[in-house]
Amino acid sequence: MRLSSFFMPTLKETPTEAQIVSHRLMLRAGMIRQTSAGIYAWLPLGYRVLRKIEQIVREEQDAAGAQELLMPTIQSAELWRESGRYDDYGKEMLRITDRHDREMLFGPTNEEMITDIFRSFVKSYRQLPLNLYHIQWKFRDEIRPRFGVMRGREFLMKDAYSFDIDAAGARRSYQKMFLAYLRTFARIGLKAIPMRADTGPIGGDLSHEFIILAETGESGVFCHKDWMNLDVLKDAPGMEDDLQPFFDRITSIYAATDEKHDPANSPVPESDLVSARGIEVGHIFNFGTKYSKPMNAVVAGPNGESVPVEMGSYGIGVSRLMGAIIEASHDDNGIIWPDAVAPFNVGLINLKSGDAETDRVCAELYAKLEAAGLEVAYDDRDERPGAKFADMDLIGVPWQLVVGPRGLKNGVVELKRRATGEKEELPVEAALAKLL
Ligand code: ATP
Ligand code: MG
Ligand code: MG
Ligand code: MG
Repeated sequence: MRLSSFFMPTLKETPTEAQIVSHRLMLRAGMIRQTSAGIYAWLPLGYRVLRKIEQIVREEQDAAGAQELLMPTIQSAELWRESGRYDDYGKEMLRITDRHDREMLFGPTNEEMITDIFRSFVKSYRQLPLNLYHIQWKFRDEIRPRFGVMRGREFLMKDAYSFDIDAAGARRSYQKMFLAYLRTFARIGLKAIPMRADTGPIGGDLSHEFIILAETGESGVFCHKDWMNLDVLKDAPGMEDDLQPFFDRITSIYAATDEKHDPANSPVPESDLVSARGIEVGHIFNFGTKYSKPMNAVVAGPNGESVPVEMGSYGIGVSRLMGAIIEASHDDNGIIWPDAVAPFNVGLINLKSGDAETDRVCAELYAKLEAAGLEVAYDDRDERPGAKFADMDLIGVPWQLVVGPRGLKNGVVELKRRATGEKEELPVEAALAKLL
């Protein structure tokens, strides 16, 4: 992408309405634009990152055996009356009436709809286990939308739903998602801690929230200090292995949200307990037959008896993750994207657009990098070097390749790693070889 034609409306001033760094940086980098309170348009740079996060989430769900479908954003009130949640959900649900005065709603979550789809088609235990997921926009009329995409009203969620014939099967489905979540967050470059959590309005008895520690987090959390240096995926099993020993080992290291933590009965001595703030980026539940019973989602068991299915649901805040990543990875100059979700792999900075030799070398590097499958932000704009450096730091591209007439006279270009600031002067070919 040539930045001279890329729609990236960066801001020089710090927007005053943004209270936390991730929101400020997303606005300054021209990634999002608020269109109503808590509702955002995703501009090209932001949308690139959103798609990268979404793709990693998708790949890890697929690897865990979940199958992707897509349910609509608008739902009928009918189903929610069946589960009893139409009245319980309260003001967070955006209720809509269509022209025939039918009651509809913008889905805040999909337990009811997926249960309806399930019961329409699945009739036998032989068709289980089944895990279905989608990545879709949700709407919750949050009382206080804030912190940009972190607590939006419209937001992108991955939500998966598992169906099993018995509690043992449901436990295995839960453990698969538990492992899939650890793998997902690790790939994104985040350290997420699974914490014992309250099940809240979804119900059920087994639940974990996946929490990124950050001062700006909205949840109070507690964990054993061993979590600080834990490589959680070390010696992790494969998806098809028995996951129970791994699950037991990881969950034996204490971590709980403040709703679950009881200071009077803490299993961890004060000296080993970390008390911190955190961002909830994922939440998994096992809730048994809470929906299958009232909604009559039953299958025929091995002896022909009718069995209500055991269910679980598994959410990831895909759009919230973007804010969480930036909270965890930035400096005074801007965002530092982890490689896996960066909007571009390489930022190519032309220090003197219009200089024939510099333009020629840049065009050649640009073509070669793109041909090798790398995504390149080529700053070919007619701007001062200082402005180009500042913008490239701001948008956080992991590698910066700086090309100018002075270096070229000596046959070198400069390669900079955004995260460390480390710079190296190299011959053009050597720089290229390092990136490919
Ligand atoms: P919170 O406690 O932050 O309100 P929640 O517990 O209500 O979140 P869940 O119902 O568990 O949310 O939804 C699954 C995931 O969706 C959450 O873990 C979070 O990452 C994301 N999420 C929930 N609400 C929002 C929101 N308003 N904006 C962005 N992401 C959200
Ligand atoms: Mg909420
Ligand atoms: Mg919550
Ligand atoms: Mg939650």
